[in-house]
Amino acid sequence: MTAPALSLTGVTHDYGKVRAVADLTLSVASGEVVCLLGPSGCGKSTVLRLAAGLEEVQVGQVAIDGVVVGSPGAHVPPESRNVGLVFQDFALFPHLTICNNVGFGIRSTDQDARRSRIMAALGDVGLAHAEQSFPHMLSGGEQQRVALARALAPKPKLLLLDEPFSGLDTRLREQVRDVTLEALRKSGTATLMVTHDAEEAMFMADRIAMMREGRIVQEGTPIDLYRHPTSLFVAAFFGEVNRLSGQADGGQVATRLGVVPTRLPSGARAEVAVRPEALKVDLSGGSGVPARVVSAHPLGRSTRLVLALDDGQRLRARIWGLHQPALDTPVTIALDPAQAFVFPAD
Ligand code: ADP
Ligand code: MG
Repeated sequence: MTAPALSLTGVTHDYGKVRAVADLTLSVASGEVVCLLGPSGCGKSTVLRLAAGLEEVQVGQVAIDGVVVGSPGAHVPPESRNVGLVFQDFALFPHLTICNNVGFGIRSTDQDARRSRIMAALGDVGLAHAEQSFPHMLSGGEQQRVALARALAPKPKLLLLDEPFSGLDTRLREQVRDVTLEALRKSGTATLMVTHDAEEAMFMADRIAMMREGRIVQEGTPIDLYRHPTSLFVAAFFGEVNRLSGQADGGQVATRLGVVPTRLPSGARAEVAVRPEALKVDLSGGSGVPARVVSAHPLGRSTRLVLALDDGQRLRARIWGLHQPALDTPVTIALDPAQAFVFPAD
């Protein structure tokens, strides 16, 4: 069995009195892309900085390719870890050409080998033509692609990305994500990427580790986390949810919208989270739970609806296609129980 490209074992990290990371264990297999996902301040960047060697390990252990590089009292500096880094503010050297920026971390002194590495890395991000430009001559998206090429050119064992796309506007972000994922796949570099954007994590990751308050609360494939969240926190982080309450009874919870299966014991109070797309809305009012249209926003491929039940509870729904029902139109709702998540109420 080959050692993981990165492993953190039982890592705890404090900044003075602030506990940023608490007893965290995480590994990235060779060739795997893992995303560390969570809200701002939950400790993601600290984990990345520990892996990079920008922070010294206080408790626990960090290993790269099976070799311990950080433990209390033992610290291999960042430049000796064979790790590529890309941060949000990509920090290219302004006075160096793109070619020299990308060549910066390559140790080989053979000029031909060096140049072919640089051009291959630039080619992988679609910027071979820009080799003689200076950073200020490129767009933000292009500069970020150069930063990626610079990180990959020395062929690191591990790539660490901290919110690499968050400085880019939406449209550009999607393009740069595509290019980045393709370059990662091509190079086969094990990657740990930090993001607070669930959709971005789903797009990039083989596996997602979801963090909250310094701890990993759930780990799995993107589809696992989306379909089988183990907490309301995870369910809600992956997209808007409607919340219904009820009581478990004989393996079911009866809600305003129908029954949902559960493993909670009879009598337990339950909170049911329902994604907007799990509500089947019949605009012509067939069978189902009656509701009225509070607002409708046709958005392109889908329409977002806010509906009100008889008792006034609001529900958010998303239906395919463009629709513009009048306010107060009576509709009916049916719930897809497979997309309803039941959690114990606290
Ligand atoms: P994230 O990247 O998920 O936003 P961070 O790892 O940056 O989270 O921060 C985790 C916690 O540690 C936060 O409460 C943050 O304020 C605190 N923190 C981060 N860096 C420092 C630092 N250098 N000094 C003091 N507190 C810090
Ligand atoms: Mg951060």
